[in-house]
Amino acid sequence: MKDGRGNICPVTIIMPTLAMLAKQDVENGCQTPIEEIFLKILDKKIHEAKEMLLERFEHICSQSPESAKFMYENHTMLGYHPEEGIRSALKHGTLVIGQLGLAETLQILIGCDHTTEKGMELAIKIETLFKRRCAEFKKEYSLNFGVYYTPAENLCYTAMKKFKAKYGEIPNVSDREYFTNSMHVPVWHEISVFDKIDIESQLTGYSSAGCITYVEVPSGVKNNIDALETIVNYAMDKDIPYFALNIKLDMCQDCGYQDEMNDTCPQCGGHNIQHLRRVTGYLTGSYKEAFNLGKQQETEQRVEHIH
Ligand SMILES: [Zn+2]
Repeated sequence: MKDGRGNICPVTIIMPTLAMLAKQDVENGCQTPIEEIFLKILDKKIHEAKEMLLERFEHICSQSPESAKFMYENHTMLGYHPEEGIRSALKHGTLVIGQLGLAETLQILIGCDHTTEKGMELAIKIETLFKRRCAEFKKEYSLNFGVYYTPAENLCYTAMKKFKAKYGEIPNVSDREYFTNSMHVPVWHEISVFDKIDIESQLTGYSSAGCITYVEVPSGVKNNIDALETIVNYAMDKDIPYFALNIKLDMCQDCGYQDEMNDTCPQCGGHNIQHLRRVTGYLTGSYKEAFNLGKQQETEQRVEHIH
């Protein structure tokens, strides 16, 4: 059962950096198991994220209703009572604690990600901590704290740049230009559409403030609607809250021809091609213009999940 959401502001925790801190503790002779060290560091950061969210929420609530007049006058956010100030409406929104790079985090901690049984076991412990803390904060502050599976449109790249500068290139952790979106299966992982849904559906239930599961399908699937229906039904049976099929759609800006293509239009030979992709939740224009180098590389390294 989902709580619903209307995110006021997010704070995202870059988990691979915390995993490196835990690893250093072990290397420095700490006898506590690495998982326990990590969960303790993570817990501290979740509490810090909560404090940051409260500070931001107070700042937002201190704004005049005139700063978003349309919103309050037209009940875009329900519950506004002028005599109580804008807090009366904003308190219904969600304050969200996000996460980046579960797959890389698990690689650092235990040498495998959540596509393995061992990795999934630890993944569930991590997500349980997020969920439990948000439930506690919600009760304590009477505000809607929630767990957010951050798409990290920019952070995937900026966090990786800082990570590499500090720790260098580590295989399956920092040998690319981006960290993996939230708890997603890494995009380069060869896996079937059903296995991807099986894995991610074990974790989506922990996120009360937004998540997406998508699968990469070849553009030829438009000729096989039954296959599409089977995949969608499978995802719905696994209780995926937000499911998307990613299909490459390119358009020639010269003649209007649409299909999957490289840099040359098969109809007119033009090179003015727009590459439409679902990079995160939304369909945007050409991903090569709308996203940074990290998400561009992520998009290019995605493997298809049906053949
Ligand atoms: Zn053309």
